Amino acid sequence: MTPLQPVRGTRDLIGEDQRRHTHVVETARRIAGLYGFDEWSTPIFEDTAVFARSLGDTSDVVTKEMYTFTDRSGESVTLRPEATAGVCRALVSNGLTQTLPQKVFYTGPMFRYERPQKGRYRQFHQIDVELIGSAEPLADAEVIALGWDVLKSLGVAGDTVLELNTLGDRESRDSYRAALVAHFGTHRDALSEDSRTRLERNPLRILDSKESCDAPFIAASPTIGEHLTPAAREFYEGVKRHLTRFGVPFRENPRIVRGLDYYSHTAFEFVTTALGAQGTVLAGGRYDGLVEEMGGPPTPAIGWAAGVERLSLLLPAPPAAPAPVAVIPVGAEAEAAALDVLQALRHAGIRAETAYRGNLKRRMEQANRRGARAAVILGEAELARGVAQVKDLATGGQTEVALAELPRRLA
Ligand code: ATP
Ligand code: MG
Repeated sequence: MTPLQPVRGTRDLIGEDQRRHTHVVETARRIAGLYGFDEWSTPIFEDTAVFARSLGDTSDVVTKEMYTFTDRSGESVTLRPEATAGVCRALVSNGLTQTLPQKVFYTGPMFRYERPQKGRYRQFHQIDVELIGSAEPLADAEVIALGWDVLKSLGVAGDTVLELNTLGDRESRDSYRAALVAHFGTHRDALSEDSRTRLERNPLRILDSKESCDAPFIAASPTIGEHLTPAAREFYEGVKRHLTRFGVPFRENPRIVRGLDYYSHTAFEFVTTALGAQGTVLAGGRYDGLVEEMGGPPTPAIGWAAGVERLSLLLPAPPAAPAPVAVIPVGAEAEAAALDVLQALRHAGIRAETAYRGNLKRRMEQANRRGARAAVILGEAELARGVAQVKDLATGGQTEVALAELPRRLA
């Protein structure tokens, strides 16, 4: 039979790949914890409306990338393409809109029907933080500082730059939108088909286009600066001031608009030059209207998401494989005693293994293949004296150790 393959755009995580992945997630979880964030989990699929409503009907994600299907009872459900919508839905479903702020850390697989390439998959993973319930610019700066700390702890901050922008408040955006319509309208026929649609429905989104034919018009487009209301400008100044205080370096980039429709005020991306076209590793912004879209009260919120695969690719070195202690009985009588030693080591928190069969030579070979750091050799004569030989597999040195002492000596 022909061997079955993983579905296009999905991958298995095994060995070093999984270790990189786990390291990224655990680092982010730990740092989010230091900032007072708690982990949430929500279902991997939701009512399609959760995403269709919230991401906006002009976003690439909704128009082209969602895995949507009808289940056996005729309901339209969608594999989540991102976490924020589900978190906001959960906030409302669980009656938490009066218990604010909620500071949420999140991680898990996301699904988007995209053209697979390095750093871009159809099932990928995100780490994600959401700070729901604060309208202060300090919240934006703190959430960004958290992201920066994650990148620093992973050792990938050196290659990444924080690009920062503001999308202002509604009044600023309405004024800016009119300026964009005027600008892109004069080049309408030269724009990509998607951008012509966006021109009618959401011209800001043209700035997020990756089509090369749009690029010259995007480069020449007006920026939001002169359209900001005094309040929006003050908010943005506050974010920048706090970021400076937090020691987070940034570069202002007026073209950052983010792919989803729900953003206002702060928009940002940490971008690296090390991953080609997949340069955005961590991105987010303020989404004050989203909770209301989910049927809750108006609720300010800010958050970001980062691609675990992209961060894993950037990690300077893979985390080392854990090295076990190999327990090696010599002779039938020693086998039972070996199990006691194995469990004593494990219960003392030491990774310990035994081969399931074989003579001393075979078992030593196996221990080396498994990357063991030490072998505990249990011969019958030694057992009678209550001791074992401990061989350091890095140096080759061997010492006799009392059985009761093994956990302490191998810790
Ligand atoms: P891009 O511009 O690369 O398509 P995006 O704006 O669609 O990214 P977001 O929705 O902001 O991405 O998701 C946040 C992060 O998730 C991205 O910065 C990226 O690191 C990661 N990401 C998004 N889509 C994918 C994917 N298909 N495969 C792997 N990682 C992804
Ligand atoms: Mg995308």
